[in-house]
Amino acid sequence: MKMSKLFVQTLRDFPQDAEAISHKLLVRAGYIKKLSNGIYSYLPLMKRVISKVEQIAREELDKAGAQELSMPFVQPAELWQKSGRWQVYGKELLRMKDRHDVELCLGPTHEEVITSIADGILTSYKQLPVNLYQFQLKFRDEIRPRFGLLRGREFIMKDGYSFHTSQESLNEEYKNMWEAYKRIFERCGLETKAVQSDSGAIGGKISHEFMVLTETQTGEDDVFYCKSCDYSANSNHAISKLNDEITTTRFEKEEIIDTPNVKTIKELAEFFNVSENNILKSVLYIIDSKPVMVMIRGDKEVEETKLLNAVRGLEIRKATEEEAAEITGSKAGFLSCLGLDTNKVKVLFDLSAKGMKNFVMGINEVDKHKVGCNFKEEHDFIDLSLVKEGEMCPVCKKPLFITRGIEVGNIFQLGTKYSEPMGATYTDENGENKPFIMGCYGIGITRTAAAAIEKHHDDFGIIWPLAIAPYHCVVIPVNIQEEDQKNMALEIYKKLQEKGVEVVLDDRNDRAGVKFKDADLIGFPFRITVGKTVKDGLVEFKERAGGEISIITPEEAVEKVCGALNNLKGI
Ligand code: ATP
Ligand code: MG
Repeated sequence: MKMSKLFVQTLRDFPQDAEAISHKLLVRAGYIKKLSNGIYSYLPLMKRVISKVEQIAREELDKAGAQELSMPFVQPAELWQKSGRWQVYGKELLRMKDRHDVELCLGPTHEEVITSIADGILTSYKQLPVNLYQFQLKFRDEIRPRFGLLRGREFIMKDGYSFHTSQESLNEEYKNMWEAYKRIFERCGLETKAVQSDSGAIGGKISHEFMVLTETQTGEDDVFYCKSCDYSANSNHAISKLNDEITTTRFEKEEIIDTPNVKTIKELAEFFNVSENNILKSVLYIIDSKPVMVMIRGDKEVEETKLLNAVRGLEIRKATEEEAAEITGSKAGFLSCLGLDTNKVKVLFDLSAKGMKNFVMGINEVDKHKVGCNFKEEHDFIDLSLVKEGEMCPVCKKPLFITRGIEVGNIFQLGTKYSEPMGATYTDENGENKPFIMGCYGIGITRTAAAAIEKHHDDFGIIWPLAIAPYHCVVIPVNIQEEDQKNMALEIYKKLQEKGVEVVLDDRNDRAGVKFKDADLIGFPFRITVGKTVKDGLVEFKERAGGEISIITPEEAVEKVCGALNNLKGI
């Protein structure tokens, strides 16, 4: 490819609306162009990167025994009504009607479609297990599309689904996919950590996310991990060892005390001279328009995904001060579960409260709190709290650490969540109809490419891992007007092409500085520069990933690039 012909426009400045470095660089280096909020065109350079990530995934999945197919992007509502998700999938699902008034949606994921396909074709236990996957556009009307390709509304996903006759067979395939995923990300130049996760709108009991760990804000997930054992989990799923901890105060007698204007947990702890973990906090939420109060230890916070799961809710927000006043008859700062009509307000107790004795709590009366409280009734204590760094690992009781992560993949054990309601069955050895036991496996292809940039860049631009770079090498004649330079550059370009190297010849009649800048910005892994040393039959060779410039012969330069590519094939 000649640079003069390559469909790319690099920009002098970063786009105004971008926060994430991958977003900034993808726009500035001419990989993507925004069409609408969270919707991007993938320009030729990006298309090549996407194809490479897909090809790596394809090779590893095929090797692992999966088969590729392609399912439609537009899906009938009828299927979603059958699975029960039409009602419960939130606003991310873009719904529409066709000219015959038939309800449709743009696929955010394809469990329903694949289940309906399997139902007609996989009729006997003899045909199982099967693993089918595709690369497909997805649409999710994300509430906050941001960070460019990291969180788009339209994006490319690899989604795969497996069908089994037993849990053991599903376990085996889950492990098989886990290993394939590790290899796929490794080949894309990404180290990942597989962490336990909440299964979200996809469902199922067991799921793991593959996280690229990053300290930047673009890692939207908090990941807790233990350095002493291999426990790690997304914060929406993480638990810590707290349960048997008893926190007790000196207040042995129940007593109502005036607490004028003492509202926050911190103020209360100071006022009563107790620790925050001696106060029972009341937090009021509105979930799907209904009030839900969580009673939780004062030093802990509510984890909203856990709470949503506990009440099988869809939309969650904290109650406003006005709502809190109306629902409890009290005022923020003095809320309590005491005296509430539990037919109107659902009250839940977090596990952290279980070991509390003689504690302090609100009583739904303004400027008053009660001390020396104890649980008099049997309550169900459930885990609704957010883990904090330093709390103990639930497995080995050593302190937990926190980091941030970008979720590039997710694997789920679905069980019969879809096959049962959709009536998708096979016939077993005894001639009985049984619902498929299913697994599902996703990779964000476009997010993976963006995550690679988050991990591999410098002040000058992208540093693509060789395996997913749009081109392997750029050849730059310093001055295209000089015949010698032009000829040698062309010769090297042809030689590389013959050897199967994907190479760009920067044949533009521009200053060398401009060409170097673009080469660094676009992120070609290798640069061969033909300049004044041409008279000695030598060129400059430079690796984008921080390598020193070396002056070598053109043959040696070609050899170096080919050698690196051969090493890649050896992975
Ligand atoms: P998130 O929690 O980041 O919203 P998710 O858990 O809802 O993602 P899954 O349903 O697990 O996403 O989808 C499989 C994969 O698709 C994810 O692991 C992620 O890599 C990718 N993905 C999901 N949403 C987006 C998005 N809005 N933009 C780009 N990639 C996405
Ligand atoms: Mg996920």
